[in-house]
Amino acid sequence: MTGLALAVALARAGVLVTVIEQNEGMEQRGTGLGVDRSLLSAVTGVDATRSARIRALPVVRSFRETSTWRAIYTWLREVARETGSIRMHEGLRVDEVTQNATSAQVRGDAFEFGADVVVGADGYRSVVRRVVDPYNPVARYGGFVIWRGLVKEEWIAGVSGTLRGGRLPYADATRLVAYAVPGSDGNVTPGYRQITYAWYDGSRTEWLRKNGFLRGDEILASIAPEAISASLRDELRHLASTRWESPERDVLVAALDHNVVFGTPLTEFLPTRLGNGRIAVIGDAAHVASPMVGAGLVYGLLDCIALGRAVTAAGGTMGAAGVTALRAYEAERLEESRAHVQESLDASAELLQSITAI
Ligand SMILES: Cc1cc2nc3c(=O)[nH]c(=O)nc-3n(C[C@H](O)[C@H](O)[C@H](O)COP(=O)(O)OP(=O)(O)OC[C@H]3O[C@@H](n4cnc5c(N)ncnc54)[C@H](O)[C@@H]3O)c2cc1C
Repeated sequence: MTGLALAVALARAGVLVTVIEQNEGMEQRGTGLGVDRSLLSAVTGVDATRSARIRALPVVRSFRETSTWRAIYTWLREVARETGSIRMHEGLRVDEVTQNATSAQVRGDAFEFGADVVVGADGYRSVVRRVVDPYNPVARYGGFVIWRGLVKEEWIAGVSGTLRGGRLPYADATRLVAYAVPGSDGNVTPGYRQITYAWYDGSRTEWLRKNGFLRGDEILASIAPEAISASLRDELRHLASTRWESPERDVLVAALDHNVVFGTPLTEFLPTRLGNGRIAVIGDAAHVASPMVGAGLVYGLLDCIALGRAVTAAGGTMGAAGVTALRAYEAERLEESRAHVQESLDASAELLQSITAI
């Protein structure tokens, strides 16, 4: 999402942008999240609240607006498609990024691109970050698995009550956040929406190690639904049923019954730099905070605004102005990003401590 948003912002500033994405289409899994449509509009220059050539981004309104990863990604892809001077290459995984005095290079299996600058928006396991900060390249495991899923409201039709989420002082059921988001077709009518949830589970560290998801304190992969065995599923179902009341309990059990649960081990990354010469990182590649402190996407979009502004201010072509712009971007964003991640590290430590103190 951050990469597409930046591509649009830079293209609108007159830069020719090449986007390289390892997945094709909608391969990536995602659930729901809070979204700031005015910020999205400010970054892209396209009003996300009104349908015109591109349909407005569907949201469910409560104390904030919420949407789904799929809806936001679809919206951004349409905006990118409508914006000239963006070349999209999907299904290419970047393995290596290098630079010399005049250009930067991106390589993968049987492909190579050259550019004036390279910006990595490649998420928490960023390859680009290794070049930006070789001494601090890895996002660290934060002590929790977050079990996630999207539950269609029709699966829990007849269940009444208001979602409260909340936090319970059990080692295996520390915190649950659940709220409504648009349906998979963008429908925001109650009954046709989806419920997204994030269940923080602080009791799976050994399981992660044993099953190859965690090496040292580096997370190697997310936990796909297929990796959740029948016995783990039963255990989670039992915990969900005993720890929570309806309607949260029904949401969790429906997700398990429909086999849509996946796990995201919590990672956090405190940056010491955001750029190195012709190479920079933005979004989760640059700074990763727990969803507990929220606003991960917001911080990525703020990176896009800062970088877009820095490119415009530096003037000239990216070849001449790019390095100056990346330096200005780092100067503007580093401290705020660090403060956000530090807040996350403190919140995770506090939550973990409350578990061990039981
Ligand atoms: C449970 C949960 C709830 C959240 N709730 C909120 C919320 O309410 N509000 C909010 O603002 N944020 C929220 N966030 C955070 C938000 O989802 C992230 O900050 C955001 O998705 C990061 O986007 P990104 O584009 O920087 O990285 P990613 O979404 O990780 O995207 C990285 C992209 O790079 C591609 N890629 C990776 N490596 C390579 C490679 N080597 N070659 C080519 N392509 C590659 C990936 O396929 C992917 O498309 C939440 C996160 C979680 C887990």
